[in-house]
Amino acid sequence: MAFENLSERLQKALRNLTGKGKISEEDINKASREIRLALLEADVNFKVVKDFIKKIKQEALGKEVQESLNPGQQVIKIVNEELTKMMGEENVTLTKSKHIPTIIMMVGLQGTGKTTTVGKLALRLKKQEHARPLLIAGDIYRPAAIDQLKQIGEQVEVPVYTEDNQDVAEIVKHGLEEADQHKNDYVIIDTAGRLEIDEPLMEELERVKAVAQPDNILLVVDAMTGQVAAEVAKTFNERLDITGVILTKLDGDTRGGAALSIRAMTGKPILFTGEGEKLTDLEPFHPDRMASRILGMGDMLTLIERAQQDYDAKEAQKVAEKMRENTFDFNDFIDQLEQVQKMGPLDQIMKMIPGMANNPQLKNLNVDEAQIAHTKAIVYSMTPAEREDPELLNPSRRRRIAAGSGRPVVEVNRMIKQFKQARDLMNQVSKGNMKGLSGLPGM
Ligand code: GDP
Repeated sequence: MAFENLSERLQKALRNLTGKGKISEEDINKASREIRLALLEADVNFKVVKDFIKKIKQEALGKEVQESLNPGQQVIKIVNEELTKMMGEENVTLTKSKHIPTIIMMVGLQGTGKTTTVGKLALRLKKQEHARPLLIAGDIYRPAAIDQLKQIGEQVEVPVYTEDNQDVAEIVKHGLEEADQHKNDYVIIDTAGRLEIDEPLMEELERVKAVAQPDNILLVVDAMTGQVAAEVAKTFNERLDITGVILTKLDGDTRGGAALSIRAMTGKPILFTGEGEKLTDLEPFHPDRMASRILGMGDMLTLIERAQQDYDAKEAQKVAEKMRENTFDFNDFIDQLEQVQKMGPLDQIMKMIPGMANNPQLKNLNVDEAQIAHTKAIVYSMTPAEREDPELLNPSRRRRIAAGSGRPVVEVNRMIKQFKQARDLMNQVSKGNMKGLSGLPGM
């Protein structure tokens, strides 16, 4: 999971401050040292770290005491606000052209996920705006890249303009003419990537830029490469004056350096993040939510937004009532599993819930899809009466269910036990009892 170490270390640094009635300069110095180390270890650029620590100290020492917060909480709030600022404060969206098409030029080094991201963006525009994008295949040096873009185009049902021509600027020009003819509202240009930045690449991209006059130049960088990604962004920005960045592979085990350094080093915003290999795995980047995620407050807003897209509000209301009344049964459980599965990989979702991100119990929770299939098989082997009333499940019934579902009895037992635990937990949460969910320092 991205940022795991950073989250843990920052929380540890801050936890020492909570519960203190008064915070001395020494306390702040100590916390600052730990925060500094945590950021450096997360591969954040050292100059960015230095500025950050300076601001935290200034703010923490100079701040008027707010009555509603204890001193530890105030420092957490400051760190949260500064982390947010470091990433740019607000979500930035694509720049739209006054006349169609809006032109997006995608640039980036090979292997960062550029071509995949072209597809993700096209799909997103289709879904969100009912747009009709045209993709232009401008990575002519690798035939495989053109085929890959064609395949992606087929998957998201978006046309791809290709041409057998060694002059990319010409291809782009003809592609744009095609878009005019077909009245496409967006054009996304996939450009050549190299393993490293070199002069011919930059010159070519400059030529494409001159021909395309793009409204957006988006640089795709790989979050796993940490500080290097931020350096790459700096160089591309100096040459091409990019409009923004898409940070891919945030679903991986990244340390956070890229997300935290890019804005400070380029002055350019991160617009989207890639959160997986599937073409639906693209999320708008919200600095405030990311800061909360890093500090372990979870990413409740993203979760809510996703839930709103995919989740039936009435259904949710019904379930919430059942949780309160403690009448949640196995039928509801299966419904929920299916609803939640629609929202995305489960472990990703769980981590977005406040307090869950660093819940040690979750570390061992390995939600894989095969497991869900087994769980479903077990529930489907229950009689309707058993599904409604889990208390009926005595040992002989459990043995029958095990035989029916083809799963071992121990697994059936474990599943029932987990179901009951989850139900009790949900019941407590729905009553507003958040004890045991403490994750945020100071909670
Ligand atoms: P390009 O050379 O920059 O065009 O890169 P590709 O689009 O071919 O992607 C390189 C690899 O990264 C492929 O295996 C993609 O599936 C993978 N990839 C792209 N974006 C993401 C992401 O957000 N998360 C993960 N885990 N993999 C990604």
